[in-house]
Amino acid sequence: HLEVYAERIDIEGGWKGVILVIRDITRETEADRLKTELVSTVSHELRTPLSSIYGFTELMLNREIDTMKQRKYLATIHTETERLSNLVTDFLDVQRMQSGGQLYQMAHLDLCTIVQQVAGLYDVSNGQHDIRVQMLGTEHPTIIGDEARIKQLLNNLVNNAIKYSPDGGLIEVSVGTDEDNATIRITDHGIGIPHYAFAQLFDKFYRVDNSDTRRIGGTGLGLSICKEIVKEHDGVIHVESIEGQGSTFTVQLPLHVTENV
Ligand code: ADP
Repeated sequence: HLEVYAERIDIEGGWKGVILVIRDITRETEADRLKTELVSTVSHELRTPLSSIYGFTELMLNREIDTMKQRKYLATIHTETERLSNLVTDFLDVQRMQSGGQLYQMAHLDLCTIVQQVAGLYDVSNGQHDIRVQMLGTEHPTIIGDEARIKQLLNNLVNNAIKYSPDGGLIEVSVGTDEDNATIRITDHGIGIPHYAFAQLFDKFYRVDNSDTRRIGGTGLGLSICKEIVKEHDGVIHVESIEGQGSTFTVQLPLHVTENV
């Protein structure tokens, strides 16, 4: 976006020229757009979990309820609190990336260990999906990366695979190599993604808009964070999906090759 400002210069009554100021306001416009999106997402995404937490705590405070029901209500409150917490994390991350304040602490990372740690967390906390991890090949691929960020990347992808699949759905995570890259694939058998959405899928705030995604909820920030993290590691991320059948997200990160002396 360009802003153009022009002024005529008259000297001693004569017309001498024109000053033309062209300003690139792309950044400002983008920042404005983000702010508007942020406000509408926050108002929508905060309201739903907050009213649910409010409603269930009120129920528990005002009535005699049996332990079974209490547990059920508490489980909902727990899920909704987690949703709020993820929301805040996503917003802060996007904010930090936007202001260029994200510092990456690079180190040698064993991807198999990291993937197993991330998937292991879900095995315990989720329990409703069948998460299978597969190591392809005999070597453990090593990359140079920021451990916390790579974990966040995998977390976002596994979390989406869970979110957008029915309970009991199989989620396959594999780690392998492909020429000079380490390759991580996350496959689910959930609702899938329509073809028209592929081009915008990794944009900030983009969400596929249908009854399933509206019910499930989200900020549309997770994949934009993934894209940013992958970019900072000189890698690529892409998606293959068939609507109604499932999705596969593939991340390729440059392998760290040890020099033989
Ligand atoms: P969020 O999940 O918070 O909406 P994301 O940026 O993580 O945001 O994802 C953007 C959109 O991509 C989602 O709203 C959803 O429509 C679609 N999507 C992402 N992952 C999957 C998946 N595994 N299966 C189906 N749809 C997905």
